[in-house]
Amino acid sequence: MSDMMKRILVTGGAGFIGSHLCRRLLDEGGKVFCLDNMFTGTYDNIRELYENPNFEFINADVIHPIQLDVDYIFNLACPASPIHYQYDPIMTSKTSFMGALNMLDLARRCHARILQASTSEIYGDPQVHPQTEDYRGNVNPIGPRACYDEGKRIVETLFFDYHRRHRVDIRVIRIFNTYGPNMLENDGRVVSNFIMQALHNRDITVYGDGSQTRSFCYVDDLINGMIAMMRKDNFYGPVNLGNPQEITILDLAHMIIEKTGSRSRIVFKELPEDDPVKRKPCIDLAKKELGWAPVIPISEGLDRTIRYFQSR
Ligand code: NAD
Ligand code: UDP
Repeated sequence: MSDMMKRILVTGGAGFIGSHLCRRLLDEGGKVFCLDNMFTGTYDNIRELYENPNFEFINADVIHPIQLDVDYIFNLACPASPIHYQYDPIMTSKTSFMGALNMLDLARRCHARILQASTSEIYGDPQVHPQTEDYRGNVNPIGPRACYDEGKRIVETLFFDYHRRHRVDIRVIRIFNTYGPNMLENDGRVVSNFIMQALHNRDITVYGDGSQTRSFCYVDDLINGMIAMMRKDNFYGPVNLGNPQEITILDLAHMIIEKTGSRSRIVFKELPEDDPVKRKPCIDLAKKELGWAPVIPISEGLDRTIRYFQSR
């Protein structure tokens, strides 16, 4: 990130989004510390980064405090796929809260600017469409998704309290469904699931009737937004980062079948509890404050992602 970005800590840096972010920050001349406990991160995602002398991997857990001198912190450490964050839900809440607390304390000590990866899940099953940042959400606090959704909500609270009380220079982004290379094949998220099923001519598992919607952002677009947010002075967020191109899950299934030339059939499975009915970001604030909007349409992003999974 040019000379502005000097020593940068990326927690969750071996994961899907984190690995793209580390690569980009190295390309821009930063010294990158990638901290990860490898719960859902992989060495494959960061293998090439080891060749860069400005890359350092720290095998650690964000629930423990760390001592490091950095200028910027991107706090991404947290499993993001429902099957992973529900595997040990207490650990998910703990990672969110303790991780944010430890990273905020570090930012306070180093006078570092710190960005939190929050999520569209803080809107829950939204009753406002598209979702704007001033919408306060509709989250079930005791359901199976709560460990993640409420975990991220308390993290936003912590960030703004550290800002008000301790003048920590915070940035909060709300990421909407993002996809691309380096997603785990078996992480249960819809894009990776459908592509793997299609490539192996297995049944495509649509949950519910497939009429629920999501809006999918290609990872390169998201990284541009994250960096724009980190660079922007005197703007703390929260700001939505996502692609407003909304699609039903059934249409996504058809699109992937067509693109892969698959012989897969579509089968319908039970809809998971608390699965949001629709989701689409309003990105007016990101456009205004960051001059950011995604540029990669879903069709092109899917082609690139399919090529990635084919090559593995
Ligand atoms: P991911 O699961 O691929 O990456 C998360 C990374 O965090 C992994 O490398 C994992 O090993 C690491 N991690 C988990 N718990 C940790 C702990 N206690 N200590 C240290 N490292 C830990 O997920 P992702 O899609 O890359 O998501 C990255 C961030 O972005 C997460 O905070 C997630 O909540 C947020 N986000 C992602 C999406 C999306 O669509 N991908 C949407 C909204 C928000
Ligand atoms: N989904 C699906 N089949 C799958 C995986 C997911 O129909 O094999 C649906 C899921 O029920 C949800 C949408 O796709 O409605 C997005 O799911 P994902 O887990 O990727 O993200 P999230 O629900 O967290 O937005």
